[in-house]
Order: sequence, then structure tokens, then C-alpha cells
Amino acid sequence: MARVYNFSAGPAVLPEEVLKEAAAEMLDYRGTGMSVMEMSHRSKAYQTIIEEAEADLRTLMNIPDNYKVLFLQGGAHQQFAMVPMNFMKNKVADYIITGQWAKKAYAEAKLYGTANAVASSADKTFSYIPDCSDLPISENADYVYICENNTIYGTKFWQLPDTKGKPLVSDVSSCFLSEPVDVTKYAMIYGGVQKNIGPAGVVICIIREDMITEDVIPGTPTMLRYKTHADAKSLYNTPPAYGIYICGKVFKWLLKNGGLEAMKEYNEKKAKILYDFLDSSELFKGTVEKKDRSIMNVPFVTGSEEMDAKFIKEATAAGFVNLKGHRSVGGMRASIYNAMPIEGVEKLVAFMAEFEAANK
Ligand SMILES: *Cc1c(COP(=O)(O)O)cnc(C)c1O
Repeated sequence: MARVYNFSAGPAVLPEEVLKEAAAEMLDYRGTGMSVMEMSHRSKAYQTIIEEAEADLRTLMNIPDNYKVLFLQGGAHQQFAMVPMNFMKNKVADYIITGQWAKKAYAEAKLYGTANAVASSADKTFSYIPDCSDLPISENADYVYICENNTIYGTKFWQLPDTKGKPLVSDVSSCFLSEPVDVTKYAMIYGGVQKNIGPAGVVICIIREDMITEDVIPGTPTMLRYKTHADAKSLYNTPPAYGIYICGKVFKWLLKNGGLEAMKEYNEKKAKILYDFLDSSELFKGTVEKKDRSIMNVPFVTGSEEMDAKFIKEATAAGFVNLKGHRSVGGMRASIYNAMPIEGVEKLVAFMAEFEAANK
């Protein structure tokens, strides 16, 4: 068995321990004589799986009782539509544009009402987070929307915007469970799990109860109403059952390893190794303003496309895979999510140093 160091932005690396456990339970889940994949989502065994998953997530994130936790399908992209369909009571929402994903969510919201771009970092290819301390928030905005960690560009909101009392909706797909969060600062937190939690096919929505109403945009399908899923505890129809089971295992893995405080410390340590190297290198450099650097996604370049390609090729051969930057920006990107071991980052940096020495 040869496991590589997988720096993919998503679907991404998962804890080996979790994969092994899932493998051991593949044919016979705890005496049921079947795989979780083959099991009714209404069965007793599955009921326990989904209830434990929710309870563990609540413990990890310290989610208050007045927030619902929903396990849905359709990826983050479906939330780009569900958010305006469910929340645009006044048909007005404010968006902060910090990259592709925020831009797509903003474009989708325009299908349902007036979406305003109240701040943007497009002027410098999204290499920073704009000052959000005094934004022109619309008086009748139903919510303010951010993409908290910008997977493609490698920026992170280290300070939440001042929404002037309006509900804050945040896409945390690529920083989910990477650090402790104060859930009460948000009306909704959501993310696709395939970046930092589990297999693609599950999106987790954490929504303050007062946001979940029947007053949705007319014509909103039953399946796209948060109330449908909140009332049915994520079992309105067949949920992404196997994916939720793996997420549940990752939650337990996180709890066992000290929870989100410990994760933050570990992630900061990993990111520092890489950023310190980038800041001292003469060949490689980071592309993001230092104060806004993500500790999950680290983009970097050499300044030459040929050199970038050579590096990616040699790194891949050496077992450091998926380092190619997003197709829209080029260069390299190392995604160093929770499950990336620190050795992976140390070895990558050692490899980069060797490459630099050989290509002076
Ligand atoms: C990957 C990603 C998305 C898109 O996710 P899908 O599940 O493919 O729809 C949206 N937002 C962020 C921040 C992402 O990293």
C-alpha cells in the first residue's frame, strides 16, 4: 500500500484511521450483517449513526440549542440558491465578493432578488480580504453573505464583517472544523464536507431557528426549503447516508484528538512551516497578503509557468500530489486540511528546498 501526500483542495485527504475503521466495517457494520451503504435510513442502526453525528458536531462546535443542524445534498452550489430562496423576504441581500465561490453565490442570488456587492477584492485578483468594518449594508438587507475561507485564492476572514445587525450567512466549506468558532455570530454556517470533513455528497447547514420559516420565495420546491429538512431531522427523504456515517467518524476522530482548539493549534503549526519557507525562499512566493492568509489553502508561484510545471511534475513523482493551482489562477496550491499530517508539510518543504537548490 502506497499512500501519497494528497494536497488536493477537495475532495481531499481524510484521516487514515477513519478510512481503516470504515474498511473494517464495510461488510458487516457492528453485527448487522450488512454495510452502512446497504442499510435502511429508517433502521435503528442508522438512526444511531445520524443522531450521534449531530450530537458530536454540536459538542465539537458548541452549537447552541436554538440552531438546527441539517445534513443535505446538492453540495455548496445548491446552497447558493437555497440561501436566497429561503431568506430573501425583502428580496435584498448584500454579498462580499472575495473570490469565485462568493461570486457564484452572488450571481445565483440575483435570480431571486436584488443582490448587492458591498465589498470586493477583485481589483487585486482576490489576494486579500477587503476592510469590512464599515460597509454600506442595505437598510432592508435580509442577510449579509461571505465565503469565509477562499479555497482558490487562499484568503481567510480572520475578522467577521460588521453586518450592522443583519444576519450573517457564511460558506465555510474549506475551513469547516479547522478552528473553534462562535456560532452565535452567525445566522447560518454551511459547507460542503468534501474539503475538510468527509466524502463528497453531504453539505452541512447550521441555521438559527428564527431564520427557518415557511415564508420563502414562492415556487421554492419542497426539497429546497430548510423547514422541510429541519422538521424531518434531515430524514425527509433518503439522506446521503454513507457520507454522513463517515462524517460522524471524523467528528469522533476530532473529539478524540482534542477538539477544535487542538486542531487550530496543529493547523497553525503546519501552515507556519509552509509560509515561513515561502517567505524565505528566492524561488517560491506566496500570493496572498500576509494578514489574510488561509491556514487551509496555501497558493504559491515561482513566477515562471515552465518552472511551475516542472515543479508540479517532479513533486508528483516524489509522492506530493494535487499541488496544481486552480485552473482559474495557475501556479501551485497546497491544501493542508485537518487530516494532512505535519510530516506531509515538513517533507513538502524539504522537497521544495531541494528543488530550489537544483534550479538556481
Ligand atoms: C469547493 C467549494 C464550493 C463548491 O462546492 P460544491 O460542493 O462542489 O458545490 C463552494 N464554496 C467553497 C468555499 C468551496 O471551497
